[in-house]
Amino acid sequence: MPGSEPARTRKIPLTHKFDAIVLGAGAAGLMCAIEAGKRGRRVAVLERAGRVGKKILISGGGRCNFTNLYCQPENFISHNPHFAKSALARYTPSHFIAWVEKHRIPYHEKKLGQLFCDRSAQDIVTLLECECRAAAVQLFLNTAIDEVRHDSGFVVRAGETEFRAPALVVATGGLSIPKMGATAFGYEVARQFGLAIRPPRPALVPLVLGAEDRGRYCDLAGVSADVVASFGKHRFHEQMLITHRGLSGPAILQISSYWNPPQPIMIDLAPQRNVTASLLDLNSPRTLATARAAFRQVLASRLADRWSELHAPANWTNSALRALEQHAHQWAITPVDTEGYDKAEVTAGGVDTDELSAKTMESRRLRGLFFIGEVVDVTGHLGGFNFQWAWASGACAGWAL
Ligand SMILES: Cc1cc2nc3c(=O)[nH]c(=O)nc-3n(C[C@H](O)[C@H](O)[C@H](O)COP(=O)(O)OP(=O)(O)OC[C@H]3O[C@@H](n4cnc5c(N)ncnc54)[C@H](O)[C@@H]3O)c2cc1C
Repeated sequence: MPGSEPARTRKIPLTHKFDAIVLGAGAAGLMCAIEAGKRGRRVAVLERAGRVGKKILISGGGRCNFTNLYCQPENFISHNPHFAKSALARYTPSHFIAWVEKHRIPYHEKKLGQLFCDRSAQDIVTLLECECRAAAVQLFLNTAIDEVRHDSGFVVRAGETEFRAPALVVATGGLSIPKMGATAFGYEVARQFGLAIRPPRPALVPLVLGAEDRGRYCDLAGVSADVVASFGKHRFHEQMLITHRGLSGPAILQISSYWNPPQPIMIDLAPQRNVTASLLDLNSPRTLATARAAFRQVLASRLADRWSELHAPANWTNSALRALEQHAHQWAITPVDTEGYDKAEVTAGGVDTDELSAKTMESRRLRGLFFIGEVVDVTGHLGGFNFQWAWASGACAGWAL
């Protein structure tokens, strides 16, 4: 035929047929593949990187905070706060802990129900690899996907290789840590099939202060304080850390997920403490020096000195002292930005949960198309909740394949 390639040179794609194709070998994708494999499904996991679970390896400071004993729907942020309930109830922290114990992985509770490996996050990756082998999951590493299409089923093309299956699970994560290969791929597949996306934004991320506040506080980089950080009705009693560009530490990372610029966040520098009580004593001198000393009782001395100097009242009347006390508990500070996806632990927003079944994570528009893990508009608090969401959403999709 004129214009067509000679049959000799035409490349015929190598086609692999499976019951399900999972895109992304992170926490959610591996869990989904294992659960489906255990039920006899032939599953392929396609991963762009040269190894599985790269983010697991760097998580929790290298020890992977793999779940949280006190996991509740309230620990998750989503446009629909009810969406995560079903999956979280069906696959609970004790399911994952049972696996960890079966594989004899030593672990401990660090604080607030946060479970970490004693040795290294590699233990969790080894567990998942071992379960993949047992469930006969086929892993295709270094597999860059060129195209996803849907005809009678799903077709995924990677170079000269085609993968075909009646079900496709997108588990390619969010945008955080682009250095590790994070891309918008999952959102693009969602858009391709007409699913709505809630705008992605960096979450669990340090906050950047404006030039004036940086000049006031950031030479104290490295100083931390026990605070309550709040935004609206959301409050976190944890550590805050001053950085070279702004604020970080668990309290700030948590509140960053709720922060709505350009509004201020509120910081209680002395939770449940009365800082100025000693100054109200009639026999006590009321000076900047005694105020500094009072603040040193509750804050690191450099921060105590700086904060009391910057916020010293014009006079030392009872009402001025009461205002100073209130200010210390409701210090409003306005970040100008976040440190962005380079430093964000997770991406909030993502595939709109209205598009998905809360029980199975399957698209309501297109049968056989699933989204799980961080690519979905469900974001956990700091403390092992994001992995719990990855395990739970992955397992629910795996049970439905
Ligand atoms: C520094 C850091 C520390 C963290 N620590 C914790 C913690 O201790 N506890 C906790 O609960 N959460 C933690 N998190 C969050 C947690 O890692 C994520 O929420 C979780 O990994 C999300 O799992 P996922 O499977 O949805 O996505 P990911 O783990 O991001 O996996 C997605 C996979 O898809 C692959 N991929 C992407 N695009 C393509 C493509 N086009 N084709 C093929 N493959 C592709 C990626 O290479 C990756 O392997 C941390 C995050 C960071 C960045």
